[in-house]
Amino acid sequence: MPRNSLSSPACGGGVSAKPEGLVSMTEGAKPPSVSPLHHFVVPLPRFAGEDRKGFVSLVGAGPGDADHLTLGALKALQSAQALLYDALVSEDILALAPQKCVKICVGKRGDRLSVSQDKTNALMVRLAKKGLHVVRLKGGDPSVFGRVEEERLYLEAHDIGHKTLPGVTAASAAAAQFAFPLTHRGEARSVTFLTGRTKDGSIDLRHESISDPMVSLVFYMSSHNADHIEASLLHAGRSPQTPVVIIENAGRPTARALSGTLTEMAALVAQAAFDGPVLMGVGTAFGYARLAATVKARLQA
Ligand code: SAH
Repeated sequence: MPRNSLSSPACGGGVSAKPEGLVSMTEGAKPPSVSPLHHFVVPLPRFAGEDRKGFVSLVGAGPGDADHLTLGALKALQSAQALLYDALVSEDILALAPQKCVKICVGKRGDRLSVSQDKTNALMVRLAKKGLHVVRLKGGDPSVFGRVEEERLYLEAHDIGHKTLPGVTAASAAAAQFAFPLTHRGEARSVTFLTGRTKDGSIDLRHESISDPMVSLVFYMSSHNADHIEASLLHAGRSPQTPVVIIENAGRPTARALSGTLTEMAALVAQAAFDGPVLMGVGTAFGYARLAATVKARLQA
């Protein structure tokens, strides 16, 4: 076993009491009574009010598949007494909450709003004031187009303690699943997550945020505006040959991805007639996507 490698009893290494990498930490001291893995586990930050009854965890569920949940999210789910979840959260993730837990869908899918943000906020506060641990489960990462700040401000205004647990955002899941980078040395120096959707439904893409060819762009909530976005990017000076990847249901077994160039973007979206959530990636980095290989791997699995 290489020095410094981590091992736990679950890995079958049989070295749980004294992994080599920890020798200098434990030399001459009493052997630790906890698993060595414990040394590496940083406790989640505690917030004022967490120990009080009535608390809200704002939790990222990742893009769908339970495999993308963090351990922190899993723990929060397992201790949930009330669960308010988005439409994009999958059944297998919901099944991880206790059976007794109240589960309420406050689903949002683009313009299809089943419960207004105001009602969701009020519901969170009402349930927390009953003394429950409320888990507000959001698709992807709550901090990326997740309206999490509106919810935190509302909770604070009502004196409810909260903490936020991150999740895998859809762009990261797509990049891993279809094996493309979001940044790439010498080709894509930064990545921008943006949306073609504003509150009033209009498109507002600022020239300076989309024109740089060294920037990877990932559009969320935007596939219905693909034609306007394509035109705006060309107008901003992006090359017509810029690689584009469009991904539906990223991070799930049902994922579909299409690739082409910028001038094909809107046509690809129109042809595909997507039903699930869709991301559009534009930039040289997306030219590395391994679509055929992924499809093959999935067929063989
Ligand atoms: N907080 C989420 C984003 C919520 S906004 C995150 O971090 O991923 C909702 C938009 O996210 C959808 O319209 C779609 O553009 C994108 N999205 C969410 N899940 C997705 C998925 N599994 N595949 C592709 N796009 C997804």
